[in-house]
Amino acid sequence: MAPQAPEQSKAPDLLEEEQPHHHHNLEEREIHIDLRKIYADLRNLDWSKVVWRNVTLFALLHFYSVYGLYLALFSVQWKTIAFSVVLYFMAALGITMGAHRLWSHRSFKASLPLRIVLAIFQTIAFQNDIYEWARDHRVHHKYSETDADPHNARRGFFFSHMGWLMYRKHPSVIARGKGLDLSDLQNDKVVMFQRKFYLPLVVTSCFVLPTVIPWWYWDEHLVNALMVAGFLRYTIVLHITWFVNSLAHWVGTKPYDKSIYPSQNPMVAYLALGEGWHNYHHVFPWDYRTAELGGLVNYNITSLVIDFCYKIGLASDLRTVTPAMIERRIQRTGDGSYQPPAATAK
Ligand SMILES: [Zn+2]
Ligand SMILES: [Zn+2]
Repeated sequence: MAPQAPEQSKAPDLLEEEQPHHHHNLEEREIHIDLRKIYADLRNLDWSKVVWRNVTLFALLHFYSVYGLYLALFSVQWKTIAFSVVLYFMAALGITMGAHRLWSHRSFKASLPLRIVLAIFQTIAFQNDIYEWARDHRVHHKYSETDADPHNARRGFFFSHMGWLMYRKHPSVIARGKGLDLSDLQNDKVVMFQRKFYLPLVVTSCFVLPTVIPWWYWDEHLVNALMVAGFLRYTIVLHITWFVNSLAHWVGTKPYDKSIYPSQNPMVAYLALGEGWHNYHHVFPWDYRTAELGGLVNYNITSLVIDFCYKIGLASDLRTVTPAMIERRIQRTGDGSYQPPAATAK
């Protein structure tokens, strides 16, 4: 059996008792825009730690995406829009099913062909290679809301959303990242191949092919294709992924554990193919559904795809949590907002 991420190597029941309790000063979270606070934050920012290269790239990307939005509304062919939607699903699945549920959490096992497809999808999303994505995500779970959390939500909504990618990593993130056992990723040939050739692979699958395919097959203008199927689609998938770290760490109920930031956020779940049930996910990170329920009742498209791959023999060893364990946890640490699953739930 492949080695597990450290937080998963214990029996689930033990893990449940050993949740770190470093959230004593959990303040009430609410989102309101306070210009004076933003001004104060900017004045206090250590500007020497800003990664200007990324700030510039994100600024350019968003500038082109706004232009892409204009072109999407007034200029491109419907086939290019449809193609962009397909790319959104591929890229999002590469993140949710591949980088997240398979490689970060090992919540199921995938055969070689499935791992290759998921790695291709994950490359379309251009969110760092699988190895780096999974390492950052494992420290996020193990040290949530501390200095070692790469997108520590205590540092503000913007920081947890995208600011963390424009600012030097906190030394604890690097130190704790080095302390993780990543041998399962190092032993996965698909992961290491993608890491080795990441730059040419990501340029090809995130930008070159999305531009050339619409031009080649239905005579779309190259600029239209690049701005819409390339930049705009890329930006949308980025923000949806970032909402899991920002919005789902701020807004929502906490039926499973009221002492942590991660919350149940239906809007994020809807956009991110089932990834917004974040209070559940941080309590039971090894559950392949990342929610109490799979299927459409939780907008859990990713679970449906994993179930389908299981049926046709591409996925196996789907890990879940027993209803009794969930019930115990709700009674012990929930905020009282728990609603029993609908009778129609799978
Ligand atoms: Zn989280
Ligand atoms: Zn996770």
